Amino acid sequence: MSVVRIEHVYKDYLLGDQKVQALKDITLAFDPGVFLAIAGPSGSGKTTLLNLIGCIDAPTSGKIYINDQDVSGRTADQLADLRSKTIGFIFQTFNLLPVLSAAENVEYPLLQRSDVSREERQERVAYFLDIVGLSRFVHHRPNQLSGGQRQRVAIARALAIRPSIVLADEPTANLDHNTGEEILNLMKQINRSFKTTFIFSTHDKRVIAKADRLVRVNDGEIYALGVRSEAKWFLAKQRRATAAATQAQTS
Ligand code: ADP
Ligand code: MG
Repeated sequence: MSVVRIEHVYKDYLLGDQKVQALKDITLAFDPGVFLAIAGPSGSGKTTLLNLIGCIDAPTSGKIYINDQDVSGRTADQLADLRSKTIGFIFQTFNLLPVLSAAENVEYPLLQRSDVSREERQERVAYFLDIVGLSRFVHHRPNQLSGGQRQRVAIARALAIRPSIVLADEPTANLDHNTGEEILNLMKQINRSFKTTFIFSTHDKRVIAKADRLVRVNDGEIYALGVRSEAKWFLAKQRRATAAATQAQTS
């Protein structure tokens, strides 16, 4: 099973009467639990690709599968429902609501979820703010927090829905180097402990170096796919563990 599968995807934008080909014939599949970077220079198509994976936008042609389900032809409501249960988002500019506290920001996406009770919402808010190290800041508003702390709130908000995929569009671009590194380390730690798939875009070499897998885009096309060597060891270990578990189940 792939958590995300993209088949022959094209995305065109119309700018006046000019057609901009933002993505050209993209075919990709990502394994569940991966910590993957989409790398490329500004304007290469990273945000467009993340928006398509996140079902915020639809391809001009081609197919996208999320957890093996074809998402083309779904209504806006059906896509919103899928997003609210499956996909967490983290943005370059954090996108927190300024009038809400950290806790209220984390709770916000859960308010759309009729299957999550008020009690459970509050438990999740406390739990995920603790995971990102912000238990002491629950009542702070975004303007009372540093950039790194704001991005931690955004990570807690993304996790609160218990997503299978977290998409992060240049999550460290507005942070200084050390803070960016801390945020990346936190994301990786969460990826390892919760097995949540992380797909993030970046043009920063140091961020790329933290990824297990890498997709390079340039001018709307993929020009390299890679597995980092340190990650190879980890992924092999994960595969052996999965194989052992499957064997234990079948024997
Ligand atoms: P990146 O995130 O890598 O900087 P984008 O996905 O934002 O790249 O953009 C890819 C290309 O598509 C660029 O040429 C950009 O100008 C164009 N583009 C992106 N969004 C739009 C839009 N809404 N309308 C027109 N062109 C767009
Ligand atoms: Mg972008």
